[in-house]
Amino acid sequence: MTDKSVSYKDMINDMQNYLLYLKGIGIEELPAKKTEVRGQGPALECIYRGSGGGKTDIELKGGSLNLADEALTLESIREELGDCKRCKLHQTRTNIVFGVGNPNASLVFVGEGPGEDEDIQGEPFVGRAGQLLTRIIKAMGLKREDVYICNVVKCRPPGNRNPETDEIATCKPFMEKQINAIKPQIIVALGTHAAQTLLNTPVKITALRGKFHWYRNGIRVMPTFHPSYLLRNEGKKKEVWEDMKMVLKALGLKIPEEKK
Ligand code: SF4
Repeated sequence: MTDKSVSYKDMINDMQNYLLYLKGIGIEELPAKKTEVRGQGPALECIYRGSGGGKTDIELKGGSLNLADEALTLESIREELGDCKRCKLHQTRTNIVFGVGNPNASLVFVGEGPGEDEDIQGEPFVGRAGQLLTRIIKAMGLKREDVYICNVVKCRPPGNRNPETDEIATCKPFMEKQINAIKPQIIVALGTHAAQTLLNTPVKITALRGKFHWYRNGIRVMPTFHPSYLLRNEGKKKEVWEDMKMVLKALGLKIPEEKK
């Protein structure tokens, strides 16, 4: 594929998310349109029938596409993940680190992958970097239980190396399903890998952070520095706090006064 090409899977995923977004804002009908492919007659007729019985249904000429993501729950996604061996990270993990927090959260934090402590405990962001994230959440006037926390890859990369492209590609659909199930207003992407994966871009975190980007379904992403980077670069905490203030404002929440 060229840089500008899009896979059918991504296209269908985007179409699916867009239709769910339309449904969310109350649009229950779309006009049917026949498309002519030169020399081959009408190629596609698309009829959106709206929702019924918990399903959204699109009829395509010669078949239909069921948009089952609507029925997703975090439990069903975890069940589908099972004792996952879909990528090589399963060989060295102790526990799958699925995610933790409020299944109806307005705010989701996504990191890149579990570290050693997370691998042992099976919970994301519980080591030193995790404790810093917890302090950031508290400084925002929230509790860990108010938000949802997960990672792009659910198994620890050995030696805390960066997750590789094939591992991210294999695990990413489960993060996307988690987001589809939770339907947050805002996602905070912690670090380069989370931001690049969510936004499908090679742009570095330094250029991405400090402003909102669109994800899907009207969900916005605020990229910011990963807490483990902050442990090594104390001076960057101020920038993260500026990002979190923008998140609070966008959520309509009060910005707690900074401690002098
Ligand atoms: S990282 Fe994700 S895809 Fe790979 S084995 Fe773990 S759960 Fe499965």
